[in-house]
Amino acid sequence: MDENKDYIINFRVSRKTYEKMKQKAKENRESVSNLARKAIEDSVEIIHDLSREIFGAGDKKNKFEDIVSFHRAQFAQDMECASCGKTISKGTVGVVGENKAGKKYYFCADCK
Ligand SMILES: [Zn+2]
Repeated sequence: MDENKDYIINFRVSRKTYEKMKQKAKENRESVSNLARKAIEDSVEIIHDLSREIFGAGDKKNKFEDIVSFHRAQFAQDMECASCGKTISKGTVGVVGENKAGKKYYFCADCK
């Protein structure tokens, strides 16, 4: 795909939605398509930020920086290591990392 090329997306909206968009576009003195484009760009950005917050950034170093505590745990089920993806077999000891929101990450013994 050509990185610099713009694409045209056609999509259907209800009359109610269209009327709302038209009204909003009029208030902003812009076209309905421009309003839709900005709304999509904004939401994509928000979703990106949210997913970074929830799942961590792409690279491993930052991925787990939200962890506030670690503890050792003996896994009662086969788990997938959050770092290397290796299966942590049931009964083995690994490490659990937890962030402020209570999200838990499971690590194999090699990764922690
Ligand atoms: Zn691992």
